[in-house]
Amino acid sequence: MQITEIYKSIQGESTYAGMPCVFVRLTGCNLRCSWCDSEYTFSGGHRMAIEEVLGEVERLSPDGGVVEITGGEPMLQERELLPLMQRLLDAGHSVLLETSGERPLEKVSKGVVKIVDVKCPSSGEGDTFNLENLEALESRDEVKFVLSNRSDYEFARDFTLRHDLARKVNAVLFSPAFSKAAKGLRDASHCLLDPRELAEWMLADNVPARLNLQIHKFIWDPAMKGV
Ligand code: SF4
Repeated sequence: MQITEIYKSIQGESTYAGMPCVFVRLTGCNLRCSWCDSEYTFSGGHRMAIEEVLGEVERLSPDGGVVEITGGEPMLQERELLPLMQRLLDAGHSVLLETSGERPLEKVSKGVVKIVDVKCPSSGEGDTFNLENLEALESRDEVKFVLSNRSDYEFARDFTLRHDLARKVNAVLFSPAFSKAAKGLRDASHCLLDPRELAEWMLADNVPARLNLQIHKFIWDPAMKGV
């Protein structure tokens, strides 16, 4: 597998936010989101065998715990990723898979929690979610929308309601996008959409979703990698 980095930190998003987590970040992505903060994953990395990845995860988190598979787009390495995730489940880990949902997800083990980041129009990749993946969503999964403005919010709200997401999955997450140039101050001034404004819209519309802030951006310098 082509791996950019493996490290332990605090999970910053989803309903697992705040928990210790080992991140396995795979190299390569087929999308180019305008606000992407992971462009360093687009190339480079180093080859690791499944056994080597497992060994590094066990070294960082010997007693089980949460592991997130992220990228880049991890499903581009599906052939090796699917057995890796099964091995992690078998070893007693909770496994999260962060994916855009552009690639088919039906072969992902039901034990894996899929966190599907449906791209909104302002990302520049708005039509990339594969609607057939709605059938692959399970009650433990989560669907995330990263929002830059009112148009993104309306897209996310309408998508959530049209596909009845709140009844299909464990959580629907509305997350303000962070400026990829953000550094220094650890506050909401770097959000492309003011969280307070988003909260007011969600309350006004009674959207069945939860406001999701990337808490790692508030703990460490937003420009820091590997946290
Ligand atoms: S899918 Fe993720 S890694 Fe790929 S460009 Fe978008 S935000 Fe960046």
